[in-house]
Amino acid sequence: MTSGTLGIMRVHLVVLFGPLLLLSGFCVQAQDVNALMKDATIRAALEAAKRNEPRVVEEQIRVCEIPAPPFKEEARGKEMERRFRQLGLKDVRMDKAGNVIGVRPGASAHPNLLFQAHLDTVFPEGTEVKVKRDGNILRAPGIGDDCRGLAMMIGVIEALNEAKVQTPGTITFAADTGEEGLGDLRGTKELFNFTLKGQVDKFISVDGTGLTVTNTGVGSYRYRATFKGPGGHSFGAFGLANPIQAMGRAIAKIDEFEVPSKPKTTFNVGRVGGGTSVNAIPFECWMEVDMRSSDKDSLETLNAKYKHAVQSAVDEENKRWKGRGPVSVSNEVVGYRPAGSTPADSAIVKTALEVTKLFATAVGLREGSTDANVPMNLGIPAITIGGGGQGSAAHALDESFDTTNTYLGTQRGIVLAVALAR
Ligand SMILES: [Zn+2]
Repeated sequence: MTSGTLGIMRVHLVVLFGPLLLLSGFCVQAQDVNALMKDATIRAALEAAKRNEPRVVEEQIRVCEIPAPPFKEEARGKEMERRFRQLGLKDVRMDKAGNVIGVRPGASAHPNLLFQAHLDTVFPEGTEVKVKRDGNILRAPGIGDDCRGLAMMIGVIEALNEAKVQTPGTITFAADTGEEGLGDLRGTKELFNFTLKGQVDKFISVDGTGLTVTNTGVGSYRYRATFKGPGGHSFGAFGLANPIQAMGRAIAKIDEFEVPSKPKTTFNVGRVGGGTSVNAIPFECWMEVDMRSSDKDSLETLNAKYKHAVQSAVDEENKRWKGRGPVSVSNEVVGYRPAGSTPADSAIVKTALEVTKLFATAVGLREGSTDANVPMNLGIPAITIGGGGQGSAAHALDESFDTTNTYLGTQRGIVLAVALAR
């Protein structure tokens, strides 16, 4: 079956069963959330959050001024470890990947909600991280993405502690590494494959700003393919297979790929290089390829097509030149983010939307590539939410963050954490 027909079948299933799930799920979630909002300890936690918010913003600034370049998050991690201990979390530790973990035990070990924000930024070592404050506007690289998430998480823990909120299930908090770029979600992969393997029932990552809810994780494969042969003089050695011509065949095949538009599945040859001279058969060339989809089957199908295209291009090139000076290819994976999604009618997404409605006027679902990709791919209920406030120019040196009403982000985090830790 092609991935295209799979997509159509999925649409039919949603049409058939969607309304039924929506109806039954809606009532249950709405009641849960309303009951929670009447709970005196939760109301006390929300008041504490509002009262403490100026301190949370100070925390956001302090954390942001500790540099956390890609693969060098340790200093910021140590600070989060210190805060986790200070806030009385249990079993506080830093794992092999540099993730900082701390547990707020509930009446029972399960359900165990993993609630996290990422330590790393996209900015290289040496970037000026001093925060400039102009009224409600904070300016610094990483101030929103993800210092807001880290600070909001601290605000949630503080408010839960102050109001002595007891949850039936447990909340495990984590400040994780490697979310951005070539970090390739390495911190979260470590958490789910080793550190907390088999222990997590639900997942929230707080990433960036606003009151967003993300339930679709766009996955990706990124390759650098290197084609090699003996090379030689363009005239004197004519008759040898040519790495660049083999790569040309591969690119032509890639260009012909048919991919589903829903879920959006894409491919791109983004960079090429190689060769030494116009009058030399090259001994080496390379290309970088990016492929994405939120559907894991579509992504795997595309990945298989890609590998087949590259190998058959090389085979054809070698055959064309009767195996003289054969070309070979090696594919280096330079990026892999698993794909996945948490259905819109799942309990966790419905709860997130119900809770968000209490704090925001516009509520919708988004797709993105975040730490939640990892649990989504494993079928563990997972979402990514914004930490509140309003950010702009994430990943740019002039990133800024508006602190107006940021307490709403912290309050939403509290209700959501409590609602899911049961
Ligand atoms: Zn982020």
